[in-house]
Amino acid sequence: MFKAMHPTLPEAITINDYIHLKRSKPSTGPARCPACNQPLSEKAVNDPDPAVKAHFAHVRNPKAPKCPIKSEGAIRYSVLTANLPDTQAAADLRSSFFKNWTYHWHQFKKYVRTADIKDFTSALREIDNNGVWKYQNIHEHEVIIAMLATRDFKPTKNSDGKTLRSRWVRFWFRSHVTSLQQFWNIGSGQKDLIRAEYDLSEKATKIKEDKFLDFKVVAVDSTFLSNQDFSEAPRFVHVVMSERFPKMVTPPEPLEEKK
Ligand SMILES: [Zn+2]
Repeated sequence: MFKAMHPTLPEAITINDYIHLKRSKPSTGPARCPACNQPLSEKAVNDPDPAVKAHFAHVRNPKAPKCPIKSEGAIRYSVLTANLPDTQAAADLRSSFFKNWTYHWHQFKKYVRTADIKDFTSALREIDNNGVWKYQNIHEHEVIIAMLATRDFKPTKNSDGKTLRSRWVRFWFRSHVTSLQQFWNIGSGQKDLIRAEYDLSEKATKIKEDKFLDFKVVAVDSTFLSNQDFSEAPRFVHVVMSERFPKMVTPPEPLEEKK
């Protein structure tokens, strides 16, 4: 890990800044993991091999909670609702989501930061097929959280050949939350998740702690469904949505021919 939580402040700190801090103030406590809050140690601080960079690592502790960042190849969360009944509430949530799809699209982009409409439609297709609507305690503003948490946002280029995402992005819950169901059941208070960036190519098959470059703690926004700036989407985005979900999204009005 090349970034972690600052020992005393509610913010991130890079390994190099932490090393400086500790040199100037030796009583500084350890940096902490954003997911499990366990103390981290510094590794390879003065390694003579320039290829080996200084980094944080979890302190060995058999009693520490399971941490998704520490576990090599930690698996993504998945929508598990096969045994839940199809209810009217689930049907209502689905139709409300599609009625408000532009709001969800804008907020999804805000969370991922490097996403296009294809990311949105494939993530939505997957959770829709898996019946995300059947969860009992899910709120409409949290449906896109299921889209974030069940996916790897791999490095990719957009249709013009320009880099859309240079790093692999994965979203993690704090380590005491191990499933979507648990996340929906967190009581009142701010929910958040960790947006982690890994130095992995799109061909990689495993998430690894030593490729963990950067992170942000992302607060779940429960207000965006009333943000008027999100009430529209560009025409091409609308076209894609109506093609992928023809029963749920009507296509935009045809463009008037210029005379
Ligand atoms: Zn951890």
